[in-house]
Amino acid sequence: MNFKRPRGTADILPEDQPYWGHVYDVASKVANQFGYHRIDTPTFEDTNLFERGVGNETDIVQKEMYSFEDHGGDLITLRPEGTASVCRAYIENGLHNLPQPVRMYYAAAMFRYERPQAGRVRQFHQFGVEAIGDASPEVDAEIIELGWKYIADLGIKNVTLRINSLGDAEGRADYINELEKYFLSVADQLPKVDRDRLTRAPLRVLDSKAKETQALANAAPKSIDFITGEAKEHWEALLALLDNLEEVYPDFSYKVDHRLVRGLDYYNRTVFEFEPSDVSGSQGTLIAGGRYDPLMGILGGQETPAIGFAGGLERLILELKKLELPVPSSKGPEVVVVTLGGAGSAGAALASGLRAASVSTVLAPKRSMKAQMRFANQQNASNVVILGDREVENGIASVKSLGEGGGQAEVSLDAASIAAHVLASGNQ
Ligand code: ATP
Ligand code: MG
Repeated sequence: MNFKRPRGTADILPEDQPYWGHVYDVASKVANQFGYHRIDTPTFEDTNLFERGVGNETDIVQKEMYSFEDHGGDLITLRPEGTASVCRAYIENGLHNLPQPVRMYYAAAMFRYERPQAGRVRQFHQFGVEAIGDASPEVDAEIIELGWKYIADLGIKNVTLRINSLGDAEGRADYINELEKYFLSVADQLPKVDRDRLTRAPLRVLDSKAKETQALANAAPKSIDFITGEAKEHWEALLALLDNLEEVYPDFSYKVDHRLVRGLDYYNRTVFEFEPSDVSGSQGTLIAGGRYDPLMGILGGQETPAIGFAGGLERLILELKKLELPVPSSKGPEVVVVTLGGAGSAGAALASGLRAASVSTVLAPKRSMKAQMRFANQQNASNVVILGDREVENGIASVKSLGEGGGQAEVSLDAASIAAHVLASGNQ
């Protein structure tokens, strides 16, 4: 028998964990800097939640969900994204009673049945943030700033921020009419997928991946020319706030892109994406988000404005590797215990004593002295404690520092003395 992991999934081996630890650490650090608190929701939800919350017309619901009937006959789906779940949790737990907006973040696995390729897998991971309960453009700017700070703190440079406004539902009908008219007038030049899209979801033709369509989309009517009233004020205020961000963050800039519409049905007003400027050999969008004021109502809650984003951790890690950016390496143990001759059980007892004193300690495999020293170096240990028959008899251990200038000392063979010695030398 020859088991393989399912297509589009990955084993994240210990050697790759420094990258994962880093993207999670920076995510929670930046989220905390902006006052966002972690939320965890279940890995699976009622299928209905995503059908309503993500939208029946979306690619996700149409062809990407992992859905099944469980043994009790309930229809269940492995979450394809985080926003619907966070909104469900907000409603179910009465979070509207808290001071608004409620600022939350998550970092979790998502599941979509897609054609696997670099940066596009079936189980992937997102860092996402949501600010729920505040309609003001300051919150839009805050969310965009948070996404920017995350990418910048990871050290990723040359990222383009594209933004657009879809306006509100009322104004959008006019816009979609005009858009449809325009694309119908050039329908004979559209590929079949986009002619089909045009009848189902005209907005989605704008972000088509087909070259022919893109050229036509560039000349299409723009939603920002159709927004009026509060949506227009909101958009203009947001642009002014983003101009302020350019003062604070020297590398920050944004581009208004009227072709940006996003794939989920519930977005209104602000939508944005962060993309590497050099997309050659890369996977496109790193972080995508937008305002989704209608969603709470769609899910049966009271009308509550909200905005958020989600970033793909696989894609961010690919970018870190492509740019050869350093990540903190995993820390080695403070002590590797090397034993020779009959000192094995004394070594095991010492290792236990050191761990009990909260000194990280690994026992070297019983081999030659040379092999054990090589093991200690491979483990990236700070010190080795060497025990042979003579040391055990005399009650003295030899402690060797593997760090710079690595000295050697004779220390009384008891866990407390050795713990004190390695902690003191580690603190110098
Ligand atoms: P795409 O157009 O690339 O399919 P999307 O619009 O479906 O993206 P969102 O639902 O907005 O993506 O998800 C936000 C982010 O999550 C994306 O920008 C990307 O970084 C990441 N992401 C989405 N789907 C995948 C996937 N299958 N594998 C890896 N990362 C993904
Ligand atoms: Mg997708």
